[in-house]
Amino acid sequence: MSGLDTLPPLREVIATHDLRAKKALGQNFLLDLNLTAKIARAAGDLSNMDVLEVGPGPGGLTRGLLASGARRVLAIEKDSRCLPALAEIAAAYPGRLEVIEGDALNVDPLAHLTPPIAVAANLPYNIGTELLVRWLTPKDWPPFWQSLTLMFQKEVAERIVAAPGSKTYGRLALLAQWRSEARIVMTLPPEAFTPPPKISSAVVHLTALPEPRFPADAKILEEVVARAFNQRRKMLRASLKGLHPAIETLLREAGIAPTERAEQIPLEGFCALARAIAAARAAG
Ligand code: SAM
Repeated sequence: MSGLDTLPPLREVIATHDLRAKKALGQNFLLDLNLTAKIARAAGDLSNMDVLEVGPGPGGLTRGLLASGARRVLAIEKDSRCLPALAEIAAAYPGRLEVIEGDALNVDPLAHLTPPIAVAANLPYNIGTELLVRWLTPKDWPPFWQSLTLMFQKEVAERIVAAPGSKTYGRLALLAQWRSEARIVMTLPPEAFTPPPKISSAVVHLTALPEPRFPADAKILEEVVARAFNQRRKMLRASLKGLHPAIETLLREAGIAPTERAEQIPLEGFCALARAIAAARAAG
């Protein structure tokens, strides 16, 4: 019998441990184990991987990850009420689940996991974007993770995979697509969760590229993109004025008309501009 079969259904787990969802912790639980198994499969072959899971809650996805063969799972949960339910899962999968009670923003996963590492999570909405940006902007590349399989509000998922020219195209799309391959692999209606949130959700799968798609200095690229999209309706010669006194020349050097707006510029253009700015700054 697999470990999964020995564990009670999640509705029972919720009732036994009185896990009424708390809004402040972004708690919308997945109680359908077929669904959590499907999300775990979307993470790819985990059999020789350690997995970081943020916010396991009552452990539906945790069970999916372990049943799908993850080597080890490190689950970081802020809500101490969930710990007894998670301890039952750890007992069913001896030596394969480590649970840390704490804030995922303050835990270094490398202190607990051995590469190769995948990240999989039904993220709390209040810190989802912040965690993603952190994972996409480490000091060194490649990052500690090989893939991220993450549930977001659908609107955020669309911003991650957006193409130039679309309303949702911006900083998140550029950060994600510069150094990873990102796609939406599943869309879920509110009713998939307990309690149901107001909006639909989507799972995004990101695979880390060994090298950035186009060369650029990460800091300068982030600076350019942040400024360009802070004032997304302005022409780039205006929104980027503070970056360099000769910004119009540098935009032209990068093949961008100074009168264009941020949402028209593909990733390659922003990288070319970051290189032109780096060269101009180095020349003094
Ligand atoms: N993974 C579970 C599932 O799919 O049913 C729960 C997902 S629920 C959307 C988000 C979970 O993240 C909750 O269990 C919540 O307590 C936890 N959480 C919220 N903020 C957190 C933080 N800063 N660090 C770690 N866990 C957090």
